[in-house]
Amino acid sequence: LTIGVPRETFAGEKRVATVPEVVEKLIKLGFAVSVESGAGDAANFADDTYRAAGAEIVADAAGLWANSDIVFKVRAPSATEVGLMKEGATLIGFIWPAQNPELMQQMAARKVTVLAIDALPRMLSRAQKMDALTSQAGVAGYRAVIEAANAFGRFFNGQITAAGKVPPAKVFIAGAGVAGLAAIGTAAGLGAIVRANDTRAEVADQVVSLGGEFVKVDYEEEGSGGGGYAKVMSEGFQQAQREMYAKQAREVDIIITTALIPGKPAPELITAEMVKSMRPGSVIVDMAAEQGGNCELTEPGQAVVKHGVTIIGYTDLVSRLAKQSSTLYATNLFRLTEELCKTKDGIIDVNMEDDAIRGLTVIKQGEVTWPPPPLKPA
Ligand code: NAD
Repeated sequence: LTIGVPRETFAGEKRVATVPEVVEKLIKLGFAVSVESGAGDAANFADDTYRAAGAEIVADAAGLWANSDIVFKVRAPSATEVGLMKEGATLIGFIWPAQNPELMQQMAARKVTVLAIDALPRMLSRAQKMDALTSQAGVAGYRAVIEAANAFGRFFNGQITAAGKVPPAKVFIAGAGVAGLAAIGTAAGLGAIVRANDTRAEVADQVVSLGGEFVKVDYEEEGSGGGGYAKVMSEGFQQAQREMYAKQAREVDIIITTALIPGKPAPELITAEMVKSMRPGSVIVDMAAEQGGNCELTEPGQAVVKHGVTIIGYTDLVSRLAKQSSTLYATNLFRLTEELCKTKDGIIDVNMEDDAIRGLTVIKQGEVTWPPPPLKPA
């Protein structure tokens, strides 16, 4: 079968769904690979490097889609792209079926099969190698620290030099999921003093193992909702949390917020008052900007200065490190392809008896199969 990789069309998207080193591996699994001309340009992968790896370069999107049995995408397809799909083909990419019911209907009408990488059951340890939410959140967490460091006027690490003593920067991370943990590791690696908080107390050990200090909210309440994710906390907890965050805002130089609750707007954790209380030159990176933001003053997609504090609400952190994020994403899709092609003969089998494959298959030959039945307890 032929795997096709179109150029991403979503504005500002710089990633590409496969990279030359993965093309070689896909060919070894028995597939032919076609890449739309220019698909890797924004991530610094030229057509020639794909060609050298054994891919065919196709000049236009229509030709690419029409001849692909399997399409690798990063973003969910546009209506135009859905119209270009070959009947019976398989599409693999981020789909977010709950947020995109219309797209789901359009794709089903094309009698295609769709594997939504965002619907992978992440709790299965076998699924970790395919977990693109984790690989991409890790890149975003790293980049958030780099953006903060770039906007901050001082070193992260403490230094004693002939020209004077420099104190280390203090960084507070709100939310210690995948992105928050990556941010903790990166900021600690640069030499900052790092503190972090999460409503799920179970992450405290991970925070410490990455070089951070876990700061608890002085209020007893279990923070875990379903599937290892957070829930909306009680008013009493939120009040105690605001007091603790207000204290952190007065003390630290940099705040990176990553707090999200599946299916709900991002919790507001940093108020305008807290921003006002920060020292001039401080930086906030709000990684929840796209879901409404964790900071009251965030402007999604922008970097703004308010009360002397730079507030960064970029929604394209992953695309700002497109070569790295594309490489990790391509590897996640390769691992998935290996699971679909155990026979290594260039043919895929979407096995609905396999928990991981069942979970991410949202449309099977035109039939909507999302949401999947709950996972059987191990
Ligand atoms: P996410 O992006 O949905 O949320 C980010 C973090 O924000 C979470 O840690 C959450 O607890 C925290 N948060 C939410 N509300 C908050 C508040 N009011 N104050 C402070 N923090 C708040 O989460 P994610 O990074 O995608 O992953 C979270 C969970 O997914 C993990 O805990 C893990 O259980 C699960 N996961 C499992 C695996 C696996 O088992 N292989 C892999 C990846 C993720």
